[in-house]
Amino acid sequence: MQKRIVNGVDEGVKAMQRGIDFDLIGIGFGPSNLALGVRLAEAGGAVAAKHCFIEQQPTFGWHKGMLLESCRMQISFLKDLVTMRDPTSRFSFINYLFERGRLPEFINVKSFYPTRQEFHDYLAWAASKIESHVQYGETVSTVLPVFSKDLPQQVMALEVVSHDAAGRTLRRVARALSIGLGGIKHIPSPFNDIDSPRMVHSSQYLTCIDRLIIESASPSKRVRVAVIGSGQSAAEVFVDLTRRYAHVDASLIMRSPALKPADDSAFVNEIFDPNFTDVMYQQSPEKRKWLTSRFRDTNYAVVDKALIDVIYNILYQQKVAAYSPHRVMTNAHVEAVTIDREEQTVQPDRQDRQNQSHRITLKILDSLHGHRYAECFDVVVLATGYSRDAHLKLLQPLSAVLGDDLADAVVTRDYRLPTPKDFLPRIYLQGACEESHGLSDTLLSVLAIRADDIAASLEEMWSLPRCDEEMTEVLFVARSQRPLPIINRNALNVANQVP
Ligand SMILES: Cc1cc2nc3c(=O)[nH]c(=O)nc-3n(C[C@H](O)[C@H](O)[C@H](O)COP(=O)(O)OP(=O)(O)OC[C@H]3O[C@@H](n4cnc5c(N)ncnc54)[C@H](O)[C@@H]3O)c2cc1C
Repeated sequence: MQKRIVNGVDEGVKAMQRGIDFDLIGIGFGPSNLALGVRLAEAGGAVAAKHCFIEQQPTFGWHKGMLLESCRMQISFLKDLVTMRDPTSRFSFINYLFERGRLPEFINVKSFYPTRQEFHDYLAWAASKIESHVQYGETVSTVLPVFSKDLPQQVMALEVVSHDAAGRTLRRVARALSIGLGGIKHIPSPFNDIDSPRMVHSSQYLTCIDRLIIESASPSKRVRVAVIGSGQSAAEVFVDLTRRYAHVDASLIMRSPALKPADDSAFVNEIFDPNFTDVMYQQSPEKRKWLTSRFRDTNYAVVDKALIDVIYNILYQQKVAAYSPHRVMTNAHVEAVTIDREEQTVQPDRQDRQNQSHRITLKILDSLHGHRYAECFDVVVLATGYSRDAHLKLLQPLSAVLGDDLADAVVTRDYRLPTPKDFLPRIYLQGACEESHGLSDTLLSVLAIRADDIAASLEEMWSLPRCDEEMTEVLFVARSQRPLPIINRNALNVANQVP
């Protein structure tokens, strides 16, 4: 065990000799890194780069908690993983339909917008074609610098530390990372202080809702569910609740005065064209901000117009029937949340489910009229969006080397985190560059082209003379923390099972 001072911090350090396992490791295997994997697969023998992707889910999954039956894509199928860069690619949505034997019927449906379930099947189909490069069921917990043995200040590579379901720690060293973690659920105040098993984020909707409704049900009352939010997911969950359960009263609760339609008109839609990324990137920070806010209503806190019509019709038919179990509550600002748990008489056959009533009270300010009121619910679904900064936590151990650049620097046009001269590995960010590259960055619109940009940048890196000098793997471990266990390298290679 050695000691090393980094940026004045005295840290415990463990060092050992290491080689590079991969030219590229992709962290997260959603559509972003899938598009990159496909692009690398199509490069064929031209680039013999060793790469792998690490995904926490046990199999491929694209927003599985929101794969609602009737929901359609909000983007044309032509913006699939490849078509915008190579319409002849075998990974296209059209080739998927052809291989599945549904191409004529799809044409007869006359829609550019497949269901999300079908698009999920397409993505899983493409993922299966490159599965030898994917390690499922591993969660990456951190990324560590690997230093040069001869030039101790030089970072030669990065070590990706992950954990599998069996609790094993795995380590892989790479010359480049492509980080595509997607969004992490955003839980705003006052919900973020509340610990309730009956409050879930919309990303877990399908995986939890049946259980929560069963747990809340009783013969004497209907189940009251609140959906918080005014965007597409909130609207989809609300409609799904009204259709899925006859005994549920659903309330869609939002701060805004009305559900607003997403602007998907043709001229506005040009901001999602690949060449708009250049237009956006060339602007000053102020102009970028202005453009993003000007076009925000293409994606945030807005709903497909057709779905708004469905909701309006639900409410109207309730008026016709003079029975209104479902509500849309506007100008409703939730100021506080309280949980009441009451012990109940236990029914012998339902002991573990019904031994507690669990009531969630929302204290709401009507921001239009200025009065306050309270509403009680059995279940709350938070369709409150996502944040896109999960990479900062993973890369935290690099902050001693990268400094403020980690959080503050503008990502380069080819999606790289700017790094100092002595930092040789490259880190590409996908889905975290909305500020610099535009609103399409978190969506599927530019997947194919972005994958091409990143692959071209990687190919340029891989064409440079390699500097495979000996390296020292240095694990920075805060004194109070336990060192990360290092597994046997031979065992690691077996575990990887990646060519
Ligand atoms: C319900 C819903 C519907 C949408 N529909 C559309 C649409 O129709 N059109 C559109 O353009 N956009 C849509 N979007 C936007 C969405 O962001 C993109 O569709 C797309 O998912 C972005 O792909 P990604 O790979 O960047 O992120 P994700 O799809 O979120 O994938 C990230 C992956 O990283 C994995 N991961 C995260 N952390 C770790 C870790 N530490 N270790 C290992 N793996 C990790 C996750 O498990 C996940 O599989 C939708 C979003 C939602 C929530």
